[in-house]
Amino acid sequence: MSDQADSVGPEVDAEDFAAILATTRDYIRTVVMPREREIADADAVPDDIRAGLAEMGMFGYAIPQQWGGLGLDLTQDVELAMEFGYTSLAMRSLFGTNNGIAGQVLVNFGTDEQKAEWLERIASGEVIASFALTEDGAGSNPAGLATRAVRDGDDWVIDGTKRFITNAPVADLFVVFARTRPADAGGPGIAVFLVPADAAGVTVGPKDRKMGQEGAPTSEVDFSGVRVPASSLVGGDEDAGYRAAMTSLARGRVHIAAVAVGSARRALDESLAHAATTTQGGTAVGDFQLVQAMIADQQVGVMAGQALVREVAAKYVSGEDRRIAPSVAKLFCTEMAGKVADLAVQIHGGTGYMRGVVVERIYRDIRLLRLYEGTSEIQRLIIGGGLMRGATREATAR
Ligand SMILES: Cc1cc2nc3c(=O)[nH]c(=O)nc-3n(C[C@H](O)[C@H](O)[C@H](O)COP(=O)(O)OP(=O)(O)OC[C@H]3O[C@@H](n4cnc5c(N)ncnc54)[C@H](O)[C@@H]3O)c2cc1C
Repeated sequence: MSDQADSVGPEVDAEDFAAILATTRDYIRTVVMPREREIADADAVPDDIRAGLAEMGMFGYAIPQQWGGLGLDLTQDVELAMEFGYTSLAMRSLFGTNNGIAGQVLVNFGTDEQKAEWLERIASGEVIASFALTEDGAGSNPAGLATRAVRDGDDWVIDGTKRFITNAPVADLFVVFARTRPADAGGPGIAVFLVPADAAGVTVGPKDRKMGQEGAPTSEVDFSGVRVPASSLVGGDEDAGYRAAMTSLARGRVHIAAVAVGSARRALDESLAHAATTTQGGTAVGDFQLVQAMIADQQVGVMAGQALVREVAAKYVSGEDRRIAPSVAKLFCTEMAGKVADLAVQIHGGTGYMRGVVVERIYRDIRLLRLYEGTSEIQRLIIGGGLMRGATREATAR
């Protein structure tokens, strides 16, 4: 199946998109950035910021206009994502699952009835949707998932436990992946269901205590005998789940790469400001050539990441590469951002190790980007495996 949001062409022309980008950038710089400490300390994004983001259409910028979103394509998404990455990643996470991994399952695989029921409310921010795939023993390899869905008359009954689910504590809807049968010649046997958070048998665990990204809650979610009508099966297709997960994740990887570039840019800017204003023995820290070398390495990473993200997003939208290139972007940009943030702490000296200092938060926040939506190892497997399969096909065709 094609990726609907990116196949119909951009629904917003360049001029209108420039205005959206400028407004978003201004909101982030003037409203969100001054409150980064507040978000971290409260471990929550304040309600007025949530409302402001909803008003700007941020809960549905990647959802087609037909379903109430802004209808931006992935080349536009990455430009916004580079802005999101510039501030607390909790802000992005609040609407990230609606536009990304959860929302795209509905956009690309839902029936018209399912889209009509949910997408407008997701796009407006009235509903927060969570993507519930990972389980103990089924993270990097979702084929190992043990959550089961059993058909019972007109209903499905779901049993299983998901973990590390972003936005679970604030979710209204879970997009839940479950096995309906063992994998066989007919397909992987993984379906995906739309489960309202208030359905009987759904229990959301306490908020996880994480290394970073305060304000972006995750938790375990238990589904115990959860009964949903047959109309909750996404696409009405028992085998759509695996493909839906892979499609959503591939698109999400380009977005995460862009978020990483934005965070790296912020770490660089913080490093420049610090190096220009802090002295050692009367000399500005930024006058030391070894510090300049670190700044140069940061700049090289940021510029390379930005160029790569833009190229990969364009290839995704044109349909040229929706599998290997997204992994290339995610692997390079998230690893790059990790190095840039590490250098930022180094440039700040002991100050960089102190809670409340921006680069200390960035250092912790972006560690996650190398783990979720496919670890760096999984990206390497996709890239290397994909290239080798192509080479083998060519060699045997000769
Ligand atoms: C804060 C946070 C938010 C998250 N949000 C969500 C969410 O909203 N929804 C959701 O479904 N999931 C979510 N996840 C889960 C996340 O996607 C997984 O944690 C991630 O995919 C890794 O899976 P795992 O934790 O089971 O680690 P494992 O898969 O056990 O990985 C452990 C190590 O083994 C390596 N490894 C695994 N398989 C291979 C292999 N075949 N070859 C080589 N190396 C391998 C990994 O790269 C890693 O280094 C979230 C996780 C976190 C921490």
